[in-house]
Amino acid sequence: MNVHEYQGKEVLKQYGAVVPRGQVAFSPDEAVEAAQNLGGDLWVVKAQIHAGGRGKAGGVKLARSLDEVKAIATELLGKTLVTHQTGPEGKEVKRLLVEEGCAIQKEYYVGVVIDRSHNRVTMMASEEGGTEIEEVAANTPEKIKKVTVDPAVGLSPFQARQLAYAIGIPKNLTNQAVKFMLGLYQAFVDKDASLAEINPLITTEDGRVMALDAKLNFDSNALYRHTDIVELRDLDEEDPKEIQASKYDLSYIALDGNIGCMVNGAGLAMATMDIIKHYGGEPANFLDVGGGATTEKVTEAFKIILDDPHVKGILVNIFGGIMKCDVIANGVVEAAKQVGLDRPLVVRLEGTNVELGKKILNESGLAITAADSMEDAAQKIVSLVK
Ligand code: ADP
Ligand code: MG
Repeated sequence: MNVHEYQGKEVLKQYGAVVPRGQVAFSPDEAVEAAQNLGGDLWVVKAQIHAGGRGKAGGVKLARSLDEVKAIATELLGKTLVTHQTGPEGKEVKRLLVEEGCAIQKEYYVGVVIDRSHNRVTMMASEEGGTEIEEVAANTPEKIKKVTVDPAVGLSPFQARQLAYAIGIPKNLTNQAVKFMLGLYQAFVDKDASLAEINPLITTEDGRVMALDAKLNFDSNALYRHTDIVELRDLDEEDPKEIQASKYDLSYIALDGNIGCMVNGAGLAMATMDIIKHYGGEPANFLDVGGGATTEKVTEAFKIILDDPHVKGILVNIFGGIMKCDVIANGVVEAAKQVGLDRPLVVRLEGTNVELGKKILNESGLAITAADSMEDAAQKIVSLVK
């Protein structure tokens, strides 16, 4: 689960990390009020959307007077911001963060991820802050420094100091940087984050170290023990199809292609997407209906797929182990009846009750293309949507 920058900063603050003073605003008047509360004569008005790259796209602006704050807020609120992370359709700005303007000395990068190759939390840092870290990784990977954290010990002050030295934080600010990194790590672990990215972490002209931006992602499997984080969820930022899917406990992720997939098991779902691509098609979604799916759940899953206007055809690929083929077949038929099946449907069933499942589909009167294998199924759906 994703949260907004201002929410991420609130979480970090609880761990002693320094962030600029700021206040969220939902209207131009609230933005002016926020600036008044903050005081000073330089503010930064920042679009709050669940995507980075806002600066380059005009979503982060300096204001030198309250009138400017108001003008920028009026311009940004309701605007659709297209950044390299939003996709071409962009995201509508509905909230702003008004912050004190900071006198930046230098911008750095600090990130915390789970490194799968080590099965450990890894903290990365770079002297190349403010730019896209993907570019730094591609062009000058030696400028990204890493430490791997032993979970029994946690991030040690020694490791944090090592990172701070490696990226050239001035000596007199090392202690502040270390404190920041330790707080960031603790927040990551305590809140079951899956990603924490501070880009940029800055040093200021008056000798402070702070997070100017914050991107936090949380592991949705752990949200049950973080009610404070769940409260930060902003449904406006999420795909309505994914929200619907989460109500039914379906693992659904919308993608850009045009072949809707309904599969059981995450591994088989990944393999299905791969084979579709192998035969020149593009999957419209990842969908794992799970092992113990009911007819109702399958019906809902099928509806979610059909609701997507980009879907030009559907591939159902089920290996009935725990899941029974007749349950899937009933769900497909039920959903097709409820919403009307107006697109090609290829079904490959294998496993428990496969004969019964095939019979239900055959007798349903629906135009279904049966497939014998995964290869066969992928080839058929790819040619049908062409
Ligand atoms: P994004 O990563 O989405 O572009 P950031 O929050 O990183 O958004 O802001 C982009 C840039 O704007 C930063 O790299 C920094 O140079 C500048 N900036 C952001 N917040 C402030 C602030 N409070 N004071 C001064 N400059 C800021
Ligand atoms: Mg940033």
